[in-house]
Amino acid sequence: MRIGVLAVQGAFVEHARMLRAIGVEPVDVRLPADLVGLAGLILPGGESTAMRRLVDRWGLRAPILDLARGGAPILGTCAGMILLAADIADGDPPVFGLLDVTVRRNAFGRQLDSFEADIAVPILGDSPVHGIFIRAPIVERVGPGVAVVACLDDGRVVAVRERNILATAFHPELAGEMRFHRLLATMAAEHADPGEGAGRRPHPTRRSVASA
Ligand code: GLN
Repeated sequence: MRIGVLAVQGAFVEHARMLRAIGVEPVDVRLPADLVGLAGLILPGGESTAMRRLVDRWGLRAPILDLARGGAPILGTCAGMILLAADIADGDPPVFGLLDVTVRRNAFGRQLDSFEADIAVPILGDSPVHGIFIRAPIVERVGPGVAVVACLDDGRVVAVRERNILATAFHPELAGEMRFHRLLATMAAEHADPGEGAGRRPHPTRRSVASA
């Protein structure tokens, strides 16, 4: 299985390393042609303003939207979460708008610009995730179709999932945390071979085919 990592800017090398560690072939995505045949995609952390510009400069916006709308799973971390959000507080226009949340960039005060925290992530099992937050965004509003995947102790939302779209405000790839990548690979396998996952979480287009 091949999963892409948007490689225009930011922490893409670490994500590729994580994919290799779980037996998935990573593909650096810089041009639309790199997206062909991918089972899923990771949007890494970095600087979302720079990433937004480069996504448009290289013509990646429409083909990434096509991939996501076709049901391929997408994982966005930190700046990647910002790129996925339907709404960015303080006025930046959305980039992909695939995730019905409002995010606020650089949401933690100066002292907390960067911090680490252990976070419970029930969908990944009992042991907590070590979250590394680097000038991280926060999720301020969660739409009705969006599941909260993780919160800080004070209740602020830092990971969410909406169908095939998964996003974290922190950087699992910098903490050696492989469970998000494994979940993405599982979602990608189910998307590629709906027979396997059909009983559990069929994509709506598959469901209509199955019931036809
Ligand atoms: N602060 C960055 C932004 O707004 C995100 C930081 C990160 O990805 N580590 O784009």
